[in-house]
Amino acid sequence: MHRRLIAPGALAAASLLLAIPASAASYLPGAPGIGDPYYPYYGNGGYDVSHYDLRLTYQPRTDELEGTATLLATTTQDLSRFDLDFLLDVSEVRVNGAKAAFSASAPHELEITPAAPLPKGTSITVVVRYSGVPSTKSAYGFNTWHRTPDGAIAADEPESAWWWFPSNDHPLDKATYDVSVAVPDGTQVISNGTLQSTTSQLGWTRWNWRSNKPQATYLSTLAIGKFDITTGKSANGIPVVNAYSKDLGDEAGAARASVERTGEIADWLTGYFGPYPFSSVGGYVPNTTTGYALETQTRVYYSPRQFANGSNTSVVVHELAHQWYGDSVSLKGWKDIWINEGFARYAQWLWSEHEGEGTTQQLADYVYASHPADDPFWTVKPGDPGPDNQFDTAVYDRGALAVQALRNEIGDRAFFAVLKGWPQQHAYGNASVADFRAYAEKVSGKRLAALFDTWLFQPSKPAAPSARTATLTRAEAAPVRPKSWKKIEATNDVHGHAHGH
Ligand SMILES: [Zn+2]
Repeated sequence: MHRRLIAPGALAAASLLLAIPASAASYLPGAPGIGDPYYPYYGNGGYDVSHYDLRLTYQPRTDELEGTATLLATTTQDLSRFDLDFLLDVSEVRVNGAKAAFSASAPHELEITPAAPLPKGTSITVVVRYSGVPSTKSAYGFNTWHRTPDGAIAADEPESAWWWFPSNDHPLDKATYDVSVAVPDGTQVISNGTLQSTTSQLGWTRWNWRSNKPQATYLSTLAIGKFDITTGKSANGIPVVNAYSKDLGDEAGAARASVERTGEIADWLTGYFGPYPFSSVGGYVPNTTTGYALETQTRVYYSPRQFANGSNTSVVVHELAHQWYGDSVSLKGWKDIWINEGFARYAQWLWSEHEGEGTTQQLADYVYASHPADDPFWTVKPGDPGPDNQFDTAVYDRGALAVQALRNEIGDRAFFAVLKGWPQQHAYGNASVADFRAYAEKVSGKRLAALFDTWLFQPSKPAAPSARTATLTRAEAAPVRPKSWKKIEATNDVHGHAHGH
């Protein structure tokens, strides 16, 4: 080793060299999870994505998806390596233009080692070229990519991104999106936001969608198939884009009779939640055999089965309420699911009252009386239900009951100020159940620790609130079922958890 021959000038150079390993020690791999105790490998540590540019091609006949994802991100630590969450086959990765080493690792990690370590605070551009057949890929034994007779759908919670784009897959890392997908002429592509353009060439049509406000990965959706697309504007001026599979059979009429009311319902919700937060609104009903609906941002996913018994505006209210409660204001951790579901369910109760089919208090009394103290329903804590109960009925029904308890405690004036103020307070950001309590305390001037603990965190049936005892005693003897109950209950299977979360 010629460095043994140290000349004075070389000594200075050598100590400089020695300094590099010392500081390189701070360059560590980013964590394989963002730190959510419910889902240890979801999301990643070490960087924050601001934009996804997905330029894809899809062949419905074979389910082959290929393309390039370009991610704009900023490092949040000195990084020697970082992960993306992804399941398809990667052929090349570049970081800031230079080829990077990469390897797939269980359960759904793509480990990327850039040519040079990345200091904290660096803007990075990550290009991932990939291809694959999403329906053949699984993690934890499940696959949420839905094949349909004429295409495919990505819409599930919390997992749907792994099958179509590499990401930092957790709501804490929200970003804007350009989604561009080429499909054979005659097939349509539906995604979030606004349709910027379509272009046709050599038998393929490219659809260019843009979602220009921060969006969680699980709220990004892709639908490919033969759709009828309707466009319009709500009375308040929100652009509306809806889409219906041409293959909905007997459900076609009821689906349209429900989803075509999207603009009217979005306008109605602004009365409670304040201005609509996004550039467009709408929903789509593909020809899937799934049963649920999902609040995919600006473009709600509805399974045809939601309309099997006729129109159901209650599910439209639920999913549109999430545009404020869940999409614009996203949860910080999956334990905070109540700030999504408690309020989306409560919006259904408000709609019931609006439609003259039962007041919110009647619905609360009915839920309270329907579950005796020994019902396992009360063992689910909506404020921290655990991953196995994240989408349990109790998160919705007991969750909405907690909202009504809050309303009775602080009074209508403060309650409706909270309901409308919260989406503004945390617009396009993230918040927790604790943040909600702090906000409700600030607006109402009341201490609410005991109320939140009783209704959201105790694994037992709360005592009947004194002001309501008379009603509840009567209701417990013979619960009166509000007219809206059946339609609300029919939306219980609203989220994609068929794979067992
Ligand atoms: Zn929901």
